[in-house]
Amino acid sequence: MKDIINSAVEKNRDMILEAERFIWNHPETGFRETVTSGYMEEKFRELGYDLTLADGITGFYTVLDTGRPGPEILVLGELDSIICPGHKDADPVTGAVHSCGHNAQCAALLGVAAALKEPGVLDDMCGRIRLCAVPAEELLEIEYRTELKNAGKIRYLGGKTEFLHRGYFDGVDAAFMVHTSGSYSIGRGSIGCMSKKIIYKGKAAHAGGSPWAGRNALYAATCGINAVNAIRETFAEPDTIRVHPIITHGGDMVNAIPATVTLESYVRGSSFDAIVKANRKVNRALTGAALSLGTNIEIIDAPGYGPHRNATGMMKVAEDAAKLTIPDYPMSVSEHVGSGSTDMGDLSAIMPVVHPYSGGGRGTGHGSDYEIADPVAACVDCAKWQVGMLYLLLKDDGARTREILSEFKPPFASKAEYLAYIDGLNCSGDRIEYRDDGSAVVKCE
Ligand SMILES: [Zn+2]
Ligand SMILES: [Zn+2]
Repeated sequence: MKDIINSAVEKNRDMILEAERFIWNHPETGFRETVTSGYMEEKFRELGYDLTLADGITGFYTVLDTGRPGPEILVLGELDSIICPGHKDADPVTGAVHSCGHNAQCAALLGVAAALKEPGVLDDMCGRIRLCAVPAEELLEIEYRTELKNAGKIRYLGGKTEFLHRGYFDGVDAAFMVHTSGSYSIGRGSIGCMSKKIIYKGKAAHAGGSPWAGRNALYAATCGINAVNAIRETFAEPDTIRVHPIITHGGDMVNAIPATVTLESYVRGSSFDAIVKANRKVNRALTGAALSLGTNIEIIDAPGYGPHRNATGMMKVAEDAAKLTIPDYPMSVSEHVGSGSTDMGDLSAIMPVVHPYSGGGRGTGHGSDYEIADPVAACVDCAKWQVGMLYLLLKDDGARTREILSEFKPPFASKAEYLAYIDGLNCSGDRIEYRDDGSAVVKCE
């Protein structure tokens, strides 16, 4: 089977490598990936797939039925880029660049799609394979996504969460995707996060003539950031809390006291309980700063991504598939939990998943020196690995998938239960009520 899988991918090597370059050269951030999604759609159609396009947003999926009863496996590739204007290949207008290697993931997904159409590859497999080009993994441009949310175009900030909510993954039994990295590895997962948009609301006044008539939203914001920095040592180590605010709007003109200053941040943590507990402290610190300057503060909390845990059985499938298809690559297998976040975490809340890493990338992830140094490792051999995983999950009437499902204890009983829980994390509004008698009421959930 190794030879059948590997030669099926190799036959499509040029197409895979071309896709890697094309998508690298057309980086687009989440829910804006129109060129990337269009390119992927065209290539999938050329391979003979019927696609279901995501309604009103980027991305699509297709279901390949082997014609034999069995489980359904979802395979994902991420369409979006990050923003790093200092990168030499960044888009000169938007600053977008694939410094997280998602371009290679898309190329590998195309390789998987192409290989599954080659003779012999599906012969020993049962069930269905759902291939999905998913938008918006990187949780950024929160202001833009909040606008999409308020306009009713999306309900969740992450593409996988949104697709899950829309029913695009209904019927899926287990899922995997391989993220591009510097070396091949399989770990236990990564931490989750809450997304925050913060608006300090002061009062404008002439910065030279009558600064006493204003209330400085920028100083309130910097006090808020300092207050958050002052509580970092109260975060317990096992909770792996990460808070990293940025100022996205710092004032309107230099000769006025800033009336509106906006920030974006995450609160990351190893469990939902840890995230919620830390988020409460962060909101108290941010709000206290607003009170000290006499400004108001609006905090818009929204669910980010769930803590991501790979299922043990799926990790083993990834390890075995690598031994089968790409045994020459050193493979690190560990219990490591990374301190990034991914919306694969939302899928791992309800189904067995694995999200291992391929080699081929080089440089600092999300940094200005990141590149796909070895596109064969990142795309071609990565596709072989993924077809190998499908083979192991779907051969023998899907026995291995059934075993994984029987051992899997989902953190949430159903998609409905999970989405209801994260919906409860939404919280927005002004946090201070100033009263006419000079007192103030602070609302800190
Ligand atoms: Zn990333
Ligand atoms: Zn990424």
